[in-house]
Amino acid sequence: MATKKKQSVYSGIISKYRDWLPVKADTRIISLCEGRTPLIKLENIPKTLPAPVEIYVKFEGLNPTGSFKDRGMTMAVTQAVREGARAIICASTGNTSASAAAYAARAGIAAFVLIPEGKIALGKLAQAMMKGAVVIQIQGNFDDGMRLVKEVAKAAPVTIVNSINPYRLQGQKTAAFEIVDELGRAPDFHCLPVGNAGNISAYWTGYSEYAGMHTKACAFCTDSCVYGDRTAHISQRPKMLGYQASGAAPFLRGHMVDNTETVATAIRIGHPQSWDLAWAASRESGGWFAEFSDPEILRVQKLLAEREGIFCEPASAIAVAGAIQDIEQGRIPAGSVIACTLTGHGLKDPDTAIKQSSAPVLKVDAKLESVKKAILDNMK
Ligand SMILES: *Cc1c(COP(=O)(O)O)cnc(C)c1O
Repeated sequence: MATKKKQSVYSGIISKYRDWLPVKADTRIISLCEGRTPLIKLENIPKTLPAPVEIYVKFEGLNPTGSFKDRGMTMAVTQAVREGARAIICASTGNTSASAAAYAARAGIAAFVLIPEGKIALGKLAQAMMKGAVVIQIQGNFDDGMRLVKEVAKAAPVTIVNSINPYRLQGQKTAAFEIVDELGRAPDFHCLPVGNAGNISAYWTGYSEYAGMHTKACAFCTDSCVYGDRTAHISQRPKMLGYQASGAAPFLRGHMVDNTETVATAIRIGHPQSWDLAWAASRESGGWFAEFSDPEILRVQKLLAEREGIFCEPASAIAVAGAIQDIEQGRIPAGSVIACTLTGHGLKDPDTAIKQSSAPVLKVDAKLESVKKAILDNMK
């Protein structure tokens, strides 16, 4: 009988990129097999643009709880459990709470999540509730929640798992590794939405480490890398392009903003916690920030769904909105390779999607003639 070779089972970003992460050899890993998300090359949208470019979307909506937050959460919860924590806490616009609830359930510890009243997409709240987190809805926005979480963590035995927890960014930097591992190079431009600004800082750290360099964004490196000298995997790093919703655009205003409003609730943040790190990523890379109105964000969310079959959250679509505009305006030149992070899955927020759908649901008699007519009337 032929002996079958044992398949190696994928078991998440920590085991995949362990050499690049601050995890001790004997640490119990809390994972849900996050990461290894597809890098999808857009086929139809680029044909409509004035310059030939390659656009890849990193579809982070296909992580276990439907957003990139899982990459950071596996690290933050693994470390919290190692340190003996019995409870974690976060402020959240939704996705962090869904992820924290999942990894806490996996670890067998408690999760407390503070969410803004009435501004959370149902698919996110449903996850946090199903997974047994204690959901605390505050009469305030994300920024209020963040302030409260920092205060309460000083007074109660809970570990903060927002992106001010440096382990979060360590986990999230692995998305940059995956992109390079797949493309065999770094993209020329990396486009992503910016809310609390942790993710743009994490990607910059990832690209920098693969280039054999250190950044301010790595809390574990000071003058030299704690992991020792590395041979560079890439010779050049991308320009980091960050996009914000006009109603919550502190990086465009140049200062924190108080009253935020946008349909892209995941980036409805006026006081980004990684302010300095994100500016450093933008400046060091030669990148820039730009802003988009809610109708523009929703238009591109729809465009991605209709033209490419990819359904992402409104906040995620802003990355592609930004890439398209920068190509049209010539800031991104012909021949560029562009990566856009689609941070979360469209199914998180079905209400927003259905509300803006122009195509009505057709209602017809349950008869062959009626169904046939509906088809012939609606052929593309
Ligand atoms: C958290 C989140 C963002 C914003 O990421 P930051 O690291 O806070 O800048 C964007 N999109 C989605 C879907 C998110 O969940």
